[in-house]
Amino acid sequence: MATWCETCDRPVEGEVCDICGQPVVEAAREPIPWRWRFVIVATIIYLIWRIYQLVSWLSH
Ligand SMILES: [Zn+2]
Repeated sequence: MATWCETCDRPVEGEVCDICGQPVVEAAREPIPWRWRFVIVATIIYLIWRIYQLVSWLSH
């Protein structure tokens, strides 16, 4: 399992980051990066908005 460089925000093979040279901590990281959570939340909000529009359209 790959470790994760917090500085570069990328997965790293081994114990030292190739890019910044920082030692990386063994994967005590959340499985889903925050930006993906943001994308998922934004998608859910968008879908709720579209469903709301559809219901609104059907009720008229
Ligand atoms: Zn790095």
